[in-house]
Amino acid sequence: MSGGPLERWVLADTGCKDRAALEAWQMARLRETVVYAREKSRFYAELLRGVDPSCLRARADLPLLPLTTAEQLRARGGDWLCCAASRVGRIVTLKTSGTTAEPKRVFFTESDLERTVDFFTHGMRELIAPGERVGILMPSEQPGSVGDLLARGLARIPAEAVKLGPVTDVAATYRALREAGCGCAVGIPVQVLGLACYGAALPEPERLRLRSVLLSADAAHPALVKRVGALLGCPVFTHFGMTELGYGGAVECAAHRGCHVRENDLLVEVIDPETGAPLPPGQRGELVFTTLRREAMPFLRYRSGDLGVLRTERCGCGSRLARVVPEGGRAARTDERLSLWELDGAIFSCDGAVDFCARAEGEALYLTVFGLEPPDKGALRAALLASGAARGLRVELECRTLRGFSGTGMDKRALTKGGGRET
Ligand SMILES: [Zn+2]
Repeated sequence: MSGGPLERWVLADTGCKDRAALEAWQMARLRETVVYAREKSRFYAELLRGVDPSCLRARADLPLLPLTTAEQLRARGGDWLCCAASRVGRIVTLKTSGTTAEPKRVFFTESDLERTVDFFTHGMRELIAPGERVGILMPSEQPGSVGDLLARGLARIPAEAVKLGPVTDVAATYRALREAGCGCAVGIPVQVLGLACYGAALPEPERLRLRSVLLSADAAHPALVKRVGALLGCPVFTHFGMTELGYGGAVECAAHRGCHVRENDLLVEVIDPETGAPLPPGQRGELVFTTLRREAMPFLRYRSGDLGVLRTERCGCGSRLARVVPEGGRAARTDERLSLWELDGAIFSCDGAVDFCARAEGEALYLTVFGLEPPDKGALRAALLASGAARGLRVELECRTLRGFSGTGMDKRALTKGGGRET
């Protein structure tokens, strides 16, 4: 193999020389995880009662393990725990806004968090050089938060983290990035798009000089990535992560053909979201994750709810690490008539559009699109018509001025029935 920094780290960390050895190594860790989880957790003791770990020899054997879901995690989070409460270094409680569903609680030991820090160190080397100053536009105040772990990872490159937090005031964050001399920014896709639009309207000498941008926390549609890159004049990388995966999951390389998976910690599959049947690489389905070395709370065949494609052929960068190409979507929660991903594609292709809320009711699609100035209605209608994203619904379109972003923006965006889009 001859890939970039991430692949070199994965191979060094696992002691594997090639793809075949890495896959065998993953199956050995999977067998250990099954034994460990069954012995240590009440939930897995029941779930895995009839499973013989020694039968798990190759990827084709994965369906011998049952799938697990966010609903099971919500219902019995504490029962998934595999270590003494005293060893838990961080508990993350994930509430789903606008619903009464039980929150999900995810537990990590210090060693679990350390593995994420290590991934961030080597993943960030795909897009920054040592000495770079990186603006972190994500929650980073709490020890063990995503921004805190990223800052710890950057320090080892060494690179300097500038913790600015999620964007609430576009102008203020833009100014702060510029004053700090950041050469890279890591943020939430729509928030970074807002910054990019803001900067493009400034006179040239007042603009940011970014050398790279990383979009994280939510799937970034290629239409959004293209606009961010054009407006900021730098390469745009994407990262796929979930809190359940210890935040970090997979990151893009300079070839921009999907996000390379941290395969020394994660095993990725794609399944048919309706039947649960495994799908071959290259086919679109629901992404399913298995953690290979987690202590506090291992995840076995965990349904992410996110759609995407798994790619296993060699990447343009030379790496043989598997790649995921996330397509957002929240398989289980998308309004059956609409696809958030298709709406993203249509709306984010329009100049000036930064964020939106969408809701289908009866035969109408209620759509509010935000921009630093209200975006052009004619262009949005034309893009929706050309893409078919409105699925024949009557479009009730409103264009408004963006007043900033609310909350942390760390929830993945989703369409909800009747309740508008969650932000
Ligand atoms: Zn690559």
